[in-house]
Amino acid sequence: MSLPEAFKERLERIVPHERFDAILKTFDAPKQVTFRVNPLKTTPAELEAELAREAIPFERVGWGALEGVYRIDPSDKLRLTQTKGFYAGHFYIQNLSSMVAPVLLAPEPEETVLDLAAAPGGKTLILAGMMENTGWLSAVEPSRERFFRLCDNLKNQGVTNAHTYMTDGRSVGKKCPLMFDRILLDAPCSSEARFKTFDEKSTSFWSIHKVKETSKLQRRLLLSAFDALKPGGKLLYSTCSFSPEENESPLQHLLERHGSHLKTLPLILPIDNVQ
Ligand code: SAM
Repeated sequence: MSLPEAFKERLERIVPHERFDAILKTFDAPKQVTFRVNPLKTTPAELEAELAREAIPFERVGWGALEGVYRIDPSDKLRLTQTKGFYAGHFYIQNLSSMVAPVLLAPEPEETVLDLAAAPGGKTLILAGMMENTGWLSAVEPSRERFFRLCDNLKNQGVTNAHTYMTDGRSVGKKCPLMFDRILLDAPCSSEARFKTFDEKSTSFWSIHKVKETSKLQRRLLLSAFDALKPGGKLLYSTCSFSPEENESPLQHLLERHGSHLKTLPLILPIDNVQ
């Protein structure tokens, strides 16, 4: 299967010319299996001992800001999900790229934090770990099925500082103005970075129309997130899409509305050494 032509044409215009071919190849690459230790339940040393007992070979991923990140051979994934540690929530299987946003937001213990598009909760779990299960962590998700997956994940991973809300993120800014020290908006998006040429379903919902519709929702979610932010607070916006309509455009919209009340900060990605 190949990628939608319209998507490829757009991508060629979006990414740097010299990186286009390399980026295209990533859509053919098999998915890596990576996971990270759950600091609320165990330590990297204990998890490594557990993996050794289960005879699952692992490789540590160099990741300065977050300890206990591992990669295994995809053929061992099934065995990993059958271990006691998996059921006990000692680790969480997650793409490396998904770990970046909460690490950059870097919430601290005792803060008030909002995860405005939270399910299934992979990033909420990192936020709770960094907050050491203290303070107040609100996790919002409107989709009923995904909301219950979020709740199950938080429970299984021992999160006790989270308060979950099955509601539309667009309403949160008006309901909770100026309330949070840090906000993560990992927005619903067209998931372009998750396309795989060997998985037809991954591209089946994509269209330029969908990108534009999603952009409208993202703009409103971002304005809502901004309304919920305390003065001096930090808001981080992320998507797994390449489209400027879904990335630069919502930010531009926020800056046009509230530019005089906010400051953009540089992002230093903690991923230089990750192979
Ligand atoms: N942060 C999550 C994680 O790391 O596990 C992934 C979030 S996913 C990219 C975006 C989520 O936003 C989806 O679960 C989707 O159901 C949810 N969503 C869709 N519309 C929304 C809305 N109006 N308000 C808040 N969340 C919404």
